[in-house]
Amino acid sequence: MLYYCMDCKRVFNNSSECTYCSCNNVKKLNQNAPVNVIGSKIKGRILKAKSDNVRLIYVDSHKNTIIKDFDVDKIRKIL
Ligand SMILES: [Zn+2]
Repeated sequence: MLYYCMDCKRVFNNSSECTYCSCNNVKKLNQNAPVNVIGSKIKGRILKAKSDNVRLIYVDSHKNTIIKDFDVDKIRKIL
């Protein structure tokens, strides 16, 4: 189960507090949630969330639909 922080938008697997900013404003990361990959222009949706990585579906700059796994620490929730 993965969660995201309502304050800094980072994703992690701690249900009680944010791993990055220690706030308690944490919500469950649902399937199909919109996210981006930190340090890239990739914006996609959660296809499958595991404990330390997520499978995203996104459209690349050539309009190809890509399905790819990313580490959880590279993911940020988009509101
Ligand atoms: Zn945070």
